[in-house]
Amino acid sequence: MSRICMIGTGYVGLVSGACLADFGHEVWCVDINETRIAELKNNVMPIYEPGLDTLVQKNVDGGRLFFTTSLAKAMEQTDVLFIAVQTPMSDAGDADLKFVRSVAEDIGRMMKRYYVVVTKSTVPVGTSRLVRESILSTQSEPIDFDLASNPEFLREGSSIEDFMRPDRVVIGTDTERAAEIMREIYQPLYLLETPIVNCEIETAELIKYASNAFLAVKISYINEIAKLADRVGANVSMVSKAMGLDKRIGPKFLHAGLGFGGSCLPKDTNAIVHIARKAGADMSIVRAAIDVNAGLPAIALEKLRRMLPDLKGTTGALLGLSFKPNTDDIRDAPSRAIVTMLQEAGVTLRVHDPVAMDNFRELHPDLTYCENAYDTVEGADFCLLLTEWNEYRHLDMLRLCDLMKQKVMMDCRNVYDRARLAEFGFSYDSFGRPADPERTA
Ligand code: NAD
Repeated sequence: MSRICMIGTGYVGLVSGACLADFGHEVWCVDINETRIAELKNNVMPIYEPGLDTLVQKNVDGGRLFFTTSLAKAMEQTDVLFIAVQTPMSDAGDADLKFVRSVAEDIGRMMKRYYVVVTKSTVPVGTSRLVRESILSTQSEPIDFDLASNPEFLREGSSIEDFMRPDRVVIGTDTERAAEIMREIYQPLYLLETPIVNCEIETAELIKYASNAFLAVKISYINEIAKLADRVGANVSMVSKAMGLDKRIGPKFLHAGLGFGGSCLPKDTNAIVHIARKAGADMSIVRAAIDVNAGLPAIALEKLRRMLPDLKGTTGALLGLSFKPNTDDIRDAPSRAIVTMLQEAGVTLRVHDPVAMDNFRELHPDLTYCENAYDTVEGADFCLLLTEWNEYRHLDMLRLCDLMKQKVMMDCRNVYDRARLAEFGFSYDSFGRPADPERTA
């Protein structure tokens, strides 16, 4: 059994902490957000993540999972310190490391014996040097410690399964002592024969960015193919299905639509561009993926305008605000750009999301937040399907016809069938599945 301190109880820290406790380790989760810790002590989850409350309760009851705002107290009880704080995009587009630096300085100040300090946050290559320097800068007398990098690959919405059964675990270390301690922590996954990639710290840091940038490129690639499909009269859904059947390509991340958002891909693609620039290299493919992605909300609105040329004074219904289903995360969600653009066009907005409305309301208090999809479309001139939550997949079209002022739907996630909606008299469009190809030739 290892004794672990998880610093930061957000999407990554809380899920990782609960899962590591479920592996049988003793885990102390620390956060500077007092409300968050007070709520967690009452088993109130600060984020929406399926199954998390049950897992947390089980491990709290089992005496393996603890919550505190006191890093000093957690450090007394533990031997391995995981840093899982946020690394948001700075105004310049690179990763803002102020939260990581601040934690490292706190660790340095409170260090009285040997620890392994593990960076789980996604950080630029070379950040371990910054962590080492920050710890050393605050130590009154030098105390031995080791560093490790253990980037996280979980996906919001399925993060518990992703942590428990990962495709691989990446562990970067530069001493055998730290490598052994990390091996012990992930022992249950060794037993499941999970591939464990042991490497240098810098390599582990780059693996995370290289993986996320590749996924972003894959999404933008299929979205470019969707643009082409729109022009030549092909169906991108069939194209991606057939492409995905090729084992060299694989089916994941080939779903055309409104593009990538959330707390990882937008910031990590920008960060790798900056990391490369600093190192004298150019990530031209990743830059292109960012540009394609940034243009998608405008394309959605252009398509809407083709069905409804004068948007000024209309009422729009937006279904889905989170950047993908099964999460309440709205960081860099495409819905945010869409809301701004529609408001600028003079549209009154009625919106709904199963779990992300509280987060969205903080940023956009001026929208009408509705009870459910049917409430949202009432009196609307058009409906924009922005997130493919299951509850929007089988809407009762007769009810929609009754409730909407005009039957116009822009399906930004390619959920519905054009022919079926036509039967109900809808004007309908999606990405890359044209009825009338806009042939340029
Ligand atoms: P988050 O914003 O949800 O959570 C960060 C938490 O850290 C917050 O609760 C905050 O209060 C806390 N914190 C900040 N400073 C602190 C301090 N000094 N002491 C204690 N707690 C402190 O962030 P997240 O989404 O969990 O992401 C964390 C890191 O993991 C980021 O680097 C991110 O890129 C990476 N990551 C995220 C995901 C994801 O799906 N969200 C997946 C893989 C990797």
